[in-house]
Amino acid sequence: MSSLILDGKSLAQKTEQELAERVSALRTAANGAAPILATILVGDDPASATYVKMKGNACERIGMESLRVELPASTSTEQLRQTIIDLNNNADVHGILLQHPVPEQIDERLCFDAIDLKKDVDGVTCLGFGRMSMQEAAYGSATPQGIMRLLQAYDLNIEGLHAVVVGRSAILGKPMAMMLLNANATVTICHSRTRGLEQHIKSADIVVGAVGIPEFIKADWIKDQAIVIDAGYHPGGVGDIELAPLIQRVKAYTPVPGGVGPMTINTLIYQCVEAGEKSLLVDG
Ligand code: NAP
Repeated sequence: MSSLILDGKSLAQKTEQELAERVSALRTAANGAAPILATILVGDDPASATYVKMKGNACERIGMESLRVELPASTSTEQLRQTIIDLNNNADVHGILLQHPVPEQIDERLCFDAIDLKKDVDGVTCLGFGRMSMQEAAYGSATPQGIMRLLQAYDLNIEGLHAVVVGRSAILGKPMAMMLLNANATVTICHSRTRGLEQHIKSADIVVGAVGIPEFIKADWIKDQAIVIDAGYHPGGVGDIELAPLIQRVKAYTPVPGGVGPMTINTLIYQCVEAGEKSLLVDG
């Protein structure tokens, strides 16, 4: 029996059509105003510049606007924090994306946490994480929230299943584990100090690879009919999980590329449209 392919690319495209309709309806209802995502790029890292450009392009495709803020590599924590506060106070801006990573002299956590909860559409603040964990209203961290949206779109009920998340970063592993827990999975979080990683993964009904090492998780650690989520993407088109031997014997898997990646940007703009609707229609 062949496995279900969790096609993030096509779900993201379908969602963009729906978002374009929502943005157009919003413009009609709000005298031409559209949601605006402010993107902040600090320094000249080419990969970060590409990600910010892709996020701006996604805004354009759905008729939303983006406000690009570019700061030099020498920016201080205080200068970046002040930029964020100015954007918090700018009523025309509905979402704020601070591209990670920032240059090392900057206290990234302090700057993330300066983002107003209402505009934290990338889900990076401690407050947003805490509220999401406690099942209170907050935007989820974009990559794990995108993974949850993908699981939901394919009607994969994970209640009662054993999920093993490999990785515990603030933007991916930790919020992923909390989201799976909130969906009633039984969750194990593994990391670089975990003992017996292979045994943990062998008992998983769902495996999330969020390690950052190409094909680190081996196919023969994963049981038949597991659900396999690979957040990694590396040169050569491989992820964090050795996927090729699995595609006939697992229940479902995210392809690399075209699985998790497109859902991350899609979730960012999805959440920014929600923030725009709330600000322009509900809060007036
Ligand atoms: P990260 O901050 O580098 O975190 C990596 C995690 O893996 C850490 O928690 C680390 O454990 C753990 N780890 C490292 N070596 C390990 C080992 N030998 N055994 C078990 N765990 C180990 O990375 P990240 O930002 O979470 O990203 C993870 C992956 O997802 C990367 O491949 C990245 O490219 C990808 N990603 C994709 C998107 C997307 O949009 N598609 C977005 C974000 C990330 P410690 O905490 O103990 O160090």
